[in-house]
Amino acid sequence: DGISVGILFEEISKLYSGENLPELKIEYKDYVAWQADKYHTERYKKQEKYWLEKCKGDIPVLDMPTDYMRPPNQSFEGERCNFKIPKKIADRLKEVARSNNATLYMGLLAAYNALLYRYTGQEDILVGTPIAGRSHPDLQYVVGMFVNTLIMRNSPKGEQSFIELLSKVKDTALEAYENQDYQFEMLVDKLGIKRDLSRNPLFDTMFAFHNMNKGSIDIAGVKITDYKNENRMAKFDLTLTAIDLDDGIFIELEYRTKLFKRETIERLGQHYLNIIEEVTKNPSIKLREINILSKSEKVKIIDGFNETESEYPMEKTLHELFEEQAEKTPDNIAIVCGNRKLTYRELNKKSNQLARLLRGKGVGPDVIVGIMVERSIEMIIGIYGILKAGGTYLPIDPQHPIERIKYMLQDSKTQVLLTQYSLQNKAEFDGEIINLDDEKTYGQNCMNLGKISKSTDLAYVIYTSGSTGNPKGVMIEHKSIINFIKGMTDEIDFSSNKTILALTTISFDIFLLETLLPLSIGMKVIIANENQQKNPWALNDLIINNQIDIVQVTPSRLQLLIENEKNQSCLKELKHLLVGGEAFPQALFEKVKSRTEAKIYNMYGPTETTIWSTVKDLTTNNNVTIGKPIVNTQAYIVDKNNCIQPIGCKGELCIAGDGLARGYLNRQELTKEKFINNSYVLGERMYRTGDVARWLPDGNIEFLGRIDNQVKIRGYRIELGEIENQLMKYYKVKEAVVLDRKDEGNNKYLCAYIISDEEINLEEIREYLLKYLPEYMIPINFIKIDRIPLNMSGKIDRKTLIELNDNIVTGVDYIPPRNRIEEKLVEIWQDILPIDKKIGIK
Ligand code: AMP
Ligand code: MG
Repeated sequence: DGISVGILFEEISKLYSGENLPELKIEYKDYVAWQADKYHTERYKKQEKYWLEKCKGDIPVLDMPTDYMRPPNQSFEGERCNFKIPKKIADRLKEVARSNNATLYMGLLAAYNALLYRYTGQEDILVGTPIAGRSHPDLQYVVGMFVNTLIMRNSPKGEQSFIELLSKVKDTALEAYENQDYQFEMLVDKLGIKRDLSRNPLFDTMFAFHNMNKGSIDIAGVKITDYKNENRMAKFDLTLTAIDLDDGIFIELEYRTKLFKRETIERLGQHYLNIIEEVTKNPSIKLREINILSKSEKVKIIDGFNETESEYPMEKTLHELFEEQAEKTPDNIAIVCGNRKLTYRELNKKSNQLARLLRGKGVGPDVIVGIMVERSIEMIIGIYGILKAGGTYLPIDPQHPIERIKYMLQDSKTQVLLTQYSLQNKAEFDGEIINLDDEKTYGQNCMNLGKISKSTDLAYVIYTSGSTGNPKGVMIEHKSIINFIKGMTDEIDFSSNKTILALTTISFDIFLLETLLPLSIGMKVIIANENQQKNPWALNDLIINNQIDIVQVTPSRLQLLIENEKNQSCLKELKHLLVGGEAFPQALFEKVKSRTEAKIYNMYGPTETTIWSTVKDLTTNNNVTIGKPIVNTQAYIVDKNNCIQPIGCKGELCIAGDGLARGYLNRQELTKEKFINNSYVLGERMYRTGDVARWLPDGNIEFLGRIDNQVKIRGYRIELGEIENQLMKYYKVKEAVVLDRKDEGNNKYLCAYIISDEEINLEEIREYLLKYLPEYMIPINFIKIDRIPLNMSGKIDRKTLIELNDNIVTGVDYIPPRNRIEEKLVEIWQDILPIDKKIGIK
């Protein structure tokens, strides 16, 4: 059917090199003249029109998962591997094609499209296919000399059946043949595509088919299996060549070695074969239903990578663990904050006294008690007091705006709030306020209380940013935390003689790793004050002076620590450095590694699955991954149809197991949406994290980003939608989009784009937002725009938006420099400020 080339071309040109060259029937210049002539014909114009129409709009870039980072310039080093589709399956495929009036080429291409769809999730896929320029009658047997490339643009979908896809692929192919004279190079030219030097223009993968009609696998005297792999070239990222032989279909995969490992391509070949096997058994199977994984791979991913079952004291509660520890080591120091200290005994007594008071106020299982205190030992007394009373603690950061605090207290229907003198004006609260600075709070008996809680009661509710405008409360049970403690102490050497830093704000779950976890095993906790939280040099001193062994930080904070030589001395003293909460950049990891002897861990986990769900000891590794699930925790990586993704392919990370939250407080719908049925363990749930990740062959997980608008700025979890909603509630703002951007120093910041008919100045809009949102959610830049740019698919066009920098709201009028000195000053500021702004003298 007129398609040929690839291997055939190479072999023939090898055979006919030098004196063996057959006499050509036309000379190249004649061919060119003929081509040039051709360009002016009606027929050629019609073909041009066809291809321009076919390739209009956004040309998707095939998002194939690679093993290595794509080099900035295309590298052509390649290798190939091959396998055979057994005759039985090949015959079935031919039959499926025939009964749908399609060719084998179309059947194989349809299966290839199904494969690419399942690998990338993309519904618009371009594949190149070589075609011999046979329209010129004299070129009949100079195979491959004047070759053209046709684009096969197809749109596979999960709901589509294989037969439907096949019929679409057939139509596409027939149309393409009809328009085969139009030169690919001209198309690239005409489309005026921006050249990306790291990729081939228009398509990244080639699909070639040869119909040999020959009895053996000899091609022009050379055995295919004899191909040497040395000095191979790969013209494209990946080329699939299929040759129809009597004893099956020979498949060769040629790939770029700077992108792929051999094992990855071999797996891909197996998946291709699996697809063909499945669709020939059941041609009306939907693409999303096709089992692309082999049985053994599936077992490995679902069970092997998740073999985390382990025993832990699942009946216990957090405060019981602490009471047992206080019994064992009553005189050890439990917490230190500035010049205040408490031993295990003292801490236990004080919290018992508080707990009795709380019980008297009706606190018991699943009763929420708010705690809003300064960074002090009262944080810990308060939390244990609430837990011992049988209640659930709701931590509130006093730095948050009054409106937000009020919202959380109301939304959670909190009746009792623990706070301190200095913060009482922050609480607009109708319920009961208990002051932890007041001696009377601790007037009752200090013995342990009778047990009324179960490990399935709620330990805490923590609010996190919500995309629809308000934060949402995540409910965590004791059991999940007990499991978490087991998981952490298995992975990391938390032993009773060690000292740990409590650096995190009380309102984040990772605060527990720094406080309740070490206190349940007899460690000493040093609480950093606000100054030490903010100033790297003060933090450095604190760590050194207290001989702290274990520190947990976000990558952003770690970055601050190592930016300045002077603040790094603490790194030398540390034994364990736990990094987590946002992506750990490879470069930062390498820097830190060269400056510390400490063990370095990457910690990953959403609030909804209890603090951290996967851990990786990176100490002896070169590449950052988030590791493997902790005890009694399962990770699944699924595509948008909830099918398990093969090793190496990206998908949404879902987490199941004992760490799962009970759900969102008073948000049944949202809970149902995010905590879905676990398809792999009957009766269990799993949480859709919204994170994009993939399995590496060794069972470690690589984190790749987000599928939605949740971002992390300086380690803070933020739904951009929450900021947008808040902005749109302002009477002057009609529409708003908030994006996270990166400055020249690669630091993320927020930028708001707003549509408004009125004058808005920076001060007023910031002031407005600060009433409702914490400081870290306030955009740095506000830019006025006329309309929100959309792309072809009707989504917000980020790229265009980012270029709209003109109308930045500064609150002052722009006045350009008026003399040499001012010009010089402007220049200096432009150098210093990392962002692209028009700087005036004000
Ligand atoms: P949070 O609920 O505040 O713990 O935020 C959870 C989210 O933070 C996750 O869903 C990830 O998007 C991100 N995250 C947490 N830890 C890591 C990590 N080690 N690497 C990359 N992203 C992380
Ligand atoms: Mg977390």
